[in-house]
Amino acid sequence: MAAPKRRTSKSKQKMRLAGNRWRKPLLKECPECGSRIPGHIACPSCGTYRERQVIEVDVL
Ligand SMILES: [Zn+2]
Repeated sequence: MAAPKRRTSKSKQKMRLAGNRWRKPLLKECPECGSRIPGHIACPSCGTYRERQVIEVDVL
């Protein structure tokens, strides 16, 4: 069996693990209603995307 020549340094371990570290989702502010929503989706509270009405939302 092939064995590693030297052990992985703490720095290299951290560099490897940084690739699959959890990052908080980037929330954007809706220009219409100001609610915090993730990018590239229609706003769930007012139904607009790129300042255009794209989905119908029931206003309670
Ligand atoms: Zn909105």
